[in-house]
Amino acid sequence: MKTIKVSVVTPDGPVYESDVEMVITRAQSGELGILPGHIPLVAPLVISSVRLKRDGKTEQIAVNGGFIEVRPDQVTILTPTAELASDIDVERAQRAKERAEQRLQDQHQEHIDFKRAELALKRAVNRLGVSEGKR
Ligand code: ATP
Repeated sequence: MKTIKVSVVTPDGPVYESDVEMVITRAQSGELGILPGHIPLVAPLVISSVRLKRDGKTEQIAVNGGFIEVRPDQVTILTPTAELASDIDVERAQRAKERAEQRLQDQHQEHIDFKRAELALKRAVNRLGVSEGKR
């Protein structure tokens, strides 16, 4: 089967590099499925998973938005943070989720930055989903 090279890179360095048969992720415009030979494309991503298919197996990475650049033989994902499903600290994500939910509930507190709390909640829910293979 044909493969395409995939790199997932954060400001702290590369998180993943491999050859895969298919890449699935979520751009702001909707889900993207990329096979080898895909037409060139650059798109902004949302907080979601990157699913990488090879030999009947799927690996998952939680990404925090950023950009995808597709060339026929190479996919590059640039994102502020990325974690392989197996590297996700579930308790940490659970704590982050509870903190964010608490902040969003405190509607009367003017000093709470809701947008920031919403994004923290999305990151935590995404990490929990990816760690369970559900994203
Ligand atoms: P927290 O409040 O727990 O720090 P956060 O969403 O604010 O969560 P980020 O700012 O997105 O955290 O990430 C900071 C760093 O910590 C990044 O390197 C990211 O990959 C890592 N990280 C964050 N949460 C987790 C997690 N649950 N498991 C593993 N690594 C994580």
